[in-house]
Amino acid sequence: MKIIARIRDRDPLCVICKAKGLIARTEIIDHIVSLADGGTDDDDNLQGVCKDCSDQKTEEEAARAQGRTPGALIKGKGTGRNGRPTSPDHPWNRRA
Ligand SMILES: [Zn+2]
Repeated sequence: MKIIARIRDRDPLCVICKAKGLIARTEIIDHIVSLADGGTDDDDNLQGVCKDCSDQKTEEEAARAQGRTPGALIKGKGTGRNGRPTSPDHPWNRRA
């Protein structure tokens, strides 16, 4: 069986969404540690994710590689390390 089919079979739902209690269909096979960061093509380093999570992870990796702050590229879309939105405009970050 091809790697992609095998991971899709193992992770039919986006593992990142699942960790947040959400349900989204796996659309993309993602490297947990990107190849650029020394990751491998082993099953252990692969996970099924939805497109939104893949896009966000890709952006964060690119931002890190360039020394930028994750979330700075698309304003109001990023989340910090604690999972809270980084945008000051987000209601969670607005002071009452
Ligand atoms: Zn997802």
